[in-house]
Amino acid sequence: MEKKILKIKQQVIRCTECELNKTRNNSVPGKGNYKSDVIFVGEAPGKNEDLKGEPFIGIAGKKLSIALESAGISREEVYITNIVKCRPPKNRVPTTIERDTCSNYLKKEIEIINPKIICVLGNTAFNSLLGGKEIIKFRGKIIKKNNQLYFLSVHPAATIYNQKLIDVLKKDMKKLFKIIKELKNERKIKVDIEYAS
Ligand code: URA
Repeated sequence: MEKKILKIKQQVIRCTECELNKTRNNSVPGKGNYKSDVIFVGEAPGKNEDLKGEPFIGIAGKKLSIALESAGISREEVYITNIVKCRPPKNRVPTTIERDTCSNYLKKEIEIINPKIICVLGNTAFNSLLGGKEIIKFRGKIIKKNNQLYFLSVHPAATIYNQKLIDVLKKDMKKLFKIIKELKNERKIKVDIEYAS
């Protein structure tokens, strides 16, 4: 498993599949515990991530760490990645072409890690993975699609200037890790929305 995830990492580092490779400083592969029960999926790297080649290390990352810690979880325990692995110029939302081109890497990360649940952070991940819009209306919900569970929450960057949303993110993280505990104990959990396959 470790070898497989390292292989993806190397492929991401060398990737030139889309135009973003021309403007990036570094591509940003997923990072964390590849034995984690949960994968967190954000949108795309920002300025700090692009400079260092690591996901969620800027202010948004700090917010994510705070919310995880409030649920008693450290970042090292989980796996964190993005829909798109290179920074779009000026932090614009990644295009459909960029997302589609990059989707194979996330697909492989999910296949290798085989998480019990995927935590979808914000609208771009919600739209790319589940075709959804307006995550604020669906946050806190559990979705099942193709036998994979997803948990929806707000993007940590949205909490930067909004104290109410940091409380929402913290509340969601507590719920998420409660669900994970139940899944580990093989208890049945209530799925809010099930996609027809
Ligand atoms: N925002 C994201 O969506 N991902 C990062 O890695 C950093 C900020």
